[in-house]
Amino acid sequence: MAVIDLRDIHKVYSSGTAAEVHALRGVSLTVKRGEFVAIMGSSGSGKSTLMNLIGCLDRPSSGDYLLDGEPVARLSKAGRSDLRSRKIGFVFQDFHLLPRTSALENVELPMLYHPDRVGAREMRDRALQALADVGLADRSSHHPSQLSGGQQQRVAIARALVNRPSILLADEPTGNLDTLTGAEIMQLFQQLNQDGLTILLVTHEPEICRFVKRILVMRDGRLQSDKPVPTPASAAEAVARLREERAREDREDPQPVLP
Ligand code: ADP
Repeated sequence: MAVIDLRDIHKVYSSGTAAEVHALRGVSLTVKRGEFVAIMGSSGSGKSTLMNLIGCLDRPSSGDYLLDGEPVARLSKAGRSDLRSRKIGFVFQDFHLLPRTSALENVELPMLYHPDRVGAREMRDRALQALADVGLADRSSHHPSQLSGGQQQRVAIARALVNRPSILLADEPTGNLDTLTGAEIMQLFQQLNQDGLTILLVTHEPEICRFVKRILVMRDGRLQSDKPVPTPASAAEAVARLREERAREDREDPQPVLP
């Protein structure tokens, strides 16, 4: 069964006196469980609008959307919010972590808002497990400012996954990271996808698209192309190569040792 089923979706933004903007012009798309999809397209082509609809943050002006078989398009705001907490995990370019809060508390947060809220001890155990799953077992009490960009994005990924969503939606998740750190995040995504998680990400970087299984390109509110990637590159191999290159550069150009 399709986890995402969009049928002839239109989205028109109208804000009072300003002219209407037809942001999506008839998008039909199905995504099956276990897919790993990148969405590309120039600025203004409708990528964020599409992600917001898929993530139940907004609803279409017309068309139908089934998420895991549940119709979304005509749900109330509260209904969408409930579905979102149960089905969707979000990851953003700039992490969106609460600054004066530990990694553990950041990851606990979505459980506080979950319709079937668990007890404090269970919340803590699940958050610790989610942090361990992204390789940050030893950073649970650190605040975001004490973590690198890559580590902050891992905390955000742990937070997105702690309610065990059906889909992970990531908006330019590597946009603020250097090449090696970005490849490390893609390695984590490939592992999660191999374990069965469905992932959709928006990216501008062709380099990132090498690692996914399917590439969608948006243009002027329409799906311009939809192509499978026959053999996605291994992010683990890219990470190993980039680390080797970095080590070689450090050997050839050693940093001066301060007295
Ligand atoms: P992308 O993510 O590809 O840059 P968007 O989905 O953000 O594209 O935008 C698609 C079109 O919809 C653009 O013309 C944009 O200006 C317009 N748009 C996006 N959000 C709103 C909004 N909340 N109100 C009015 N227009 C919007």
